[in-house]
Amino acid sequence: MDAVPFNRPFLTGKELEYITEAVYSGKLSGNGKFGKLCQSWFEMRFGIEKALLTSSCTDALEMTALLTDIEPGDEVIVPSYTFVSTANAFVLRGAKIVFADSEAQTPNIDVSKIEGLISPRTKAVVPMHYGGVACDMDPILELAKKHEICVIEDAAQAIGATYKGRALGSIGNLGTFSFHETKNIISGEGGLLAVNDDDMIKRAEIIWEKGTNRAAFWRGEVDKYNWVDVGSSYLASELTAAFLWAQLQFFDRIQEKRLAVWNFYREGLRPLEEAGKIRLSYIPEYASNNAHLFYILCADLTERTALIKHLKKKEINAVFHYISLHASPFYKDKHDGRELKNSDRYSDTLLRLPLYYDISDDMLCIVIDEIKKFYR
Ligand SMILES: *Cc1c(COP(=O)(O)O)cnc(C)c1O
Repeated sequence: MDAVPFNRPFLTGKELEYITEAVYSGKLSGNGKFGKLCQSWFEMRFGIEKALLTSSCTDALEMTALLTDIEPGDEVIVPSYTFVSTANAFVLRGAKIVFADSEAQTPNIDVSKIEGLISPRTKAVVPMHYGGVACDMDPILELAKKHEICVIEDAAQAIGATYKGRALGSIGNLGTFSFHETKNIISGEGGLLAVNDDDMIKRAEIIWEKGTNRAAFWRGEVDKYNWVDVGSSYLASELTAAFLWAQLQFFDRIQEKRLAVWNFYREGLRPLEEAGKIRLSYIPEYASNNAHLFYILCADLTERTALIKHLKKKEINAVFHYISLHASPFYKDKHDGRELKNSDRYSDTLLRLPLYYDISDDMLCIVIDEIKKFYR
């Protein structure tokens, strides 16, 4: 039997055609034909006010830190169970990160804990939709309104998923997406900033274009372009956009296929859950499923380590996920010492199974059988 990789980037077959077109068009830098096509696709499909293609989700997150004027000493509330960029983007501006725990039912931020973490210095809260499963956004929006703080959705994993029917990434003041090769829709590296707050659109374009008003200049709104604000080079090139455009054409098919794989796992592993051996992911009623990842929860760290080893012996690559950021070498001394039990529990017990577009039913059966064998 062949090894089962954890991930395999899916190619639609159109990527090179569009890249070739971009190469011969004579326009290779950002915000060209393909960039604009991708951006309008996001705007129309997900009801985003303004979409800006970036070189990564990390870039898009850094833009949100600039847009919300984070200054040294400001506080930003971030779940501890997340990717490092969710926090790093704000640390770069000198922010103090106030880590929140996960819910018991999902790795998402525990909304009931947020208000207790808000101080006069709090500028933003950054819900991250783990595995594309929505955080409970309504109470977060209410708190944000009450305390006048910004809501920034880290929707890196959440393309196509919804909260009460609304697209993730379109709900907060700002949202960010990733097209890293491990995500549902890819461009190697790549990301997108969703600006849902009209008041921030102009400034977002300026920050995106190195602090200049070049975007307005191209539209003929100003007669020369100038350095007008802080900014950096956050645009994705047309080569990246061309690749991404090929992927977006296949969006529905990719999502459908991933969901079929996800359901296959769920059906196959449900007996183990019913027997109380493992827990499967919980999807609240308000959330849809974009099948970004499939995970199981083991009883404890020892069991998970043994299961990974068992699968590895069969050349099945299953991997754990985040080490809680509050306990990371970089942040543990800066963290305020609060215990974040659920976050730590997910760090110890969550195991992600191989999930990619063209994983075969045979391979899925083998993975499921080996997990069952382990628990027998
Ligand atoms: C993948 C990911 C990122 C970073 O995306 P890049 O495009 O690689 O910068 C940020 N946050 C979360 C939650 C992610 O999963």
